[in-house]
Amino acid sequence: ELDERVPASEIPELNQLAASFNRMAADLQGVEQRRRDLVTDLTHELRTPLTVLEGYLEGLADGTIAPTPEVYELLGKETVRMRRLVNDLQELSKIETGYLPIDAQQMDLYPLLTSVVQRFSDQLLTGDGPLISLECPPETPLVLADAGRVEQILVNLLSNALRYTPVGKITLRVWHTETHAWIAVSDTGQGIAPEDLPHVFERFWRADRSRNRHSGGTGLGLAISQRLVQLQGGEIEVESEVGKGSTFRFSLPLA
Ligand code: ADP
Repeated sequence: ELDERVPASEIPELNQLAASFNRMAADLQGVEQRRRDLVTDLTHELRTPLTVLEGYLEGLADGTIAPTPEVYELLGKETVRMRRLVNDLQELSKIETGYLPIDAQQMDLYPLLTSVVQRFSDQLLTGDGPLISLECPPETPLVLADAGRVEQILVNLLSNALRYTPVGKITLRVWHTETHAWIAVSDTGQGIAPEDLPHVFERFWRADRSRNRHSGGTGLGLAISQRLVQLQGGEIEVESEVGKGSTFRFSLPLA
């Protein structure tokens, strides 16, 4: 008589099922690990502004700190920073867990770039900050991208360029290859050291933690920008020289 029992490992359907369960478990483990890392980082980042707020509030309450406008301004700044941090973190967490919708449409980069540059230039009219210029040939082909997300990336890169370029020049350039349009934001600011360059897209990474923390940044802008670019099928790159300036450029697929 024939023995009809076949070892489970020899049934292809079962092997496939086991393999897909393993993949699912690994995916879940990855998501869980990323969530845990994010919480660890956030705890660390929130502790500092909270300590500052706590110290000042205690001092105000027991009279060791005088309630001057400067003190309230400082308390306000720390609060705004925490608000920004929480907003950015929510965004990053949505991206990392795959819940950020990208609504890619055919779009013309030119009007978006001019309006963003205009907005930044208007802000700068008052001070003697850097000049911003746009070099975008009007015949730039349409891209397939989410306009809101592209704007978010541009605002991040321009805010950084401004933040790290007290005086000088900021230039936006657009060109395209056969498959992608490229947008570059160049500044003539402080630049980034070669050993720091590989880290700039890591979340919460800052070249000079204590100084840059006071610049009002969250250390999340570039991490968010990189993921937004990748989600739209593009790449983001950086080139920089200390004392000369930096160029951040990203690509978007042509429509
Ligand atoms: P932040 O909110 O601190 O600006 P980002 O993620 O946007 O965070 O940038 C991370 C770090 O990269 C910054 O803290 C800064 O050290 C460096 N960096 C980013 N853009 C520039 C730039 N245009 N020039 C010089 N350094 C920059």
